[in-house]
Parts: sequence; structure tokens; C-alpha cells
Amino acid sequence: MNLQQKTLRRDIQCAGIGLHCGARVEMRLRPAPPDTGIVFRRLDQNGVEIPARQENLSRSNLATTLTVDGVSISTVEHLLAAAGGLGVDNLIVEVDGPEVPAMDGSAAPFIYLMHEAGLKHQQAARQFIKILEPIRVDTDDKFVAVYPADHFKISYTISFEHPLIGEQRQTFVLNARSFTEHIAPARTFGFLKEVEALRQNGLALGGSMDNAVVIGDNSILNNKLRFQDEFVRHKILDAIGDLVLLGAPLLGHVVAYRAGHTMHTSLVEAILAAPEAWCPLVEEEVIYDVAASSPELAAASV
Ligand SMILES: [Zn+2]
Repeated sequence: MNLQQKTLRRDIQCAGIGLHCGARVEMRLRPAPPDTGIVFRRLDQNGVEIPARQENLSRSNLATTLTVDGVSISTVEHLLAAAGGLGVDNLIVEVDGPEVPAMDGSAAPFIYLMHEAGLKHQQAARQFIKILEPIRVDTDDKFVAVYPADHFKISYTISFEHPLIGEQRQTFVLNARSFTEHIAPARTFGFLKEVEALRQNGLALGGSMDNAVVIGDNSILNNKLRFQDEFVRHKILDAIGDLVLLGAPLLGHVVAYRAGHTMHTSLVEAILAAPEAWCPLVEEEVIYDVAASSPELAAASV
């Protein structure tokens, strides 16, 4: 378990198309001091800052959108998943548009950027949310829950009537390596039938065969899948991104059945509304031991 807060070593930038707005967006990831959290900064809106926290959530049906003072940033979940997956606690994300670039529809390009920038430990302890009692959110035939565990684990089941998906389930214990190898490359997916409807509503304007797995009636229309169960892995990716809105890393076992962004963010809300069911956990003594026994690490800290 990574016990010290982390940020990037240096700035790094990229550009790409927003999945829903269809416009080109430039994005720069920048290091941030301890206890900053992840904060979006809209350079095209006088630098308005939008912290990635549940209280700023404004919409979660298709993509996760955050809003402060009427200024929004959309489709944040894959970038947040990359930060959550690598354990990056503090980050400024500067964008010149309303949406995070879609890149290839996965978190892999963001992982690549963060690795290129390099990560560094900071002289501040991470504060975890350690689940003590189960918390569960049910809607119709879907649910999402979290149970006590001494690490961060997700078990996810999806069930679609489409023959190319069917029922898929996966369990992952999350750490930077398992996330990078097994979850980050899984791309978002959509059904060809639904794409037209989304476009009529002014959404998915930037959607293309380059940034999503497109599923026709009988076949995958582009590329081949990166994993045989890429769909459920992408749902795990989305859940990790949405859970970053807790504002602290989670120690618990998340179990999701046919969930999605709305259910994930409902779980975040339920956790924050039930402080008796968890405790903040800071392992400061261990931090000092690590710093004392590792001169390189101590030198690299800010
Ligand atoms: Zn997604």
C-alpha cells in the first residue's frame, strides 16, 4: 500500500477531441502541492477551478461532469481513473475546453503521460477512507456496494442481452501495476444503434471508431478487442475514476452489478453520507519510517 501522497515530477501536455463536444481540447497535467487533490482549471473560462469532488458533480448519466459556478468539465472519469489507478493524489489539470480529450477511449494514454512526467512522493501522509460497515445502493435490478477490506478491490458484473457481450464478471485487487496492465487499456464501448440517437441530442459528436469500441448487431465494427472481456474491465475503469470523487483513496471491496456512472456516484454519495460506516486512516508513523530509511525518496519529496 502506498502511504505517501504523490504528484507528478513535471508538467506534461496532450491534445485530443472531446467525445461529446467534438472540439479539439488541449490539456496540461501539472504537479500540485500536498492536500490539493485533483483540480481541473478551465483556461478558457478565466481559470475557474473545479475540484474533482462529489459536491461538484452535476451529471453522471453518460459521462461524469463536474461544475463550479456554472463552469463545467465533462468526461473526467478516464483521467481520474488513471490518477486513482496510479495513486496520484495531487494534480492540476488545465484544459482550454469543456471536456477532457477522449484519446483512445481508455485510460492508457493518460497513464503513459503520467509515466512520462514521472511520479514523486510528497512529504505528506495519504488519508484513506477505511470501510467498517457495508454500504449498499440498489436501483431496480442493479446494485453497487462496498464491504470492509484492508485493500482496494473491485468485483464487477455486467449483463447485456447482446450476444457479443452477455454476462461478464471480473475481480481485481487494485494497485498501480494491475491497473496499468489489466484495466487502463480497456476502451469505452457503445452500440451502433445508440450512436445516432446520441448525435441527434448533440452528444457523441467527437465519437469515432478511434475512441470507442462500436458494437453492431452481430460484430465489433472496429479493431479487435484488447481483452476478451474488455467491456467489464472498462466498467471497472469507470468505477475507479468515479470513486476518486470521494477525495481520498478507499480501503474496501466494491461490488457492482449492472452499474454505471450514476450508480458509482450514488455509492460515493452514500459513503460520504454515512461517516459512521468508515473511518479516516492515516499511517503517519509508517511514513516517517519509510522516509527515514530511504534517502532517495526523502530527497525527492517536496
Ligand atoms: Zn468509460
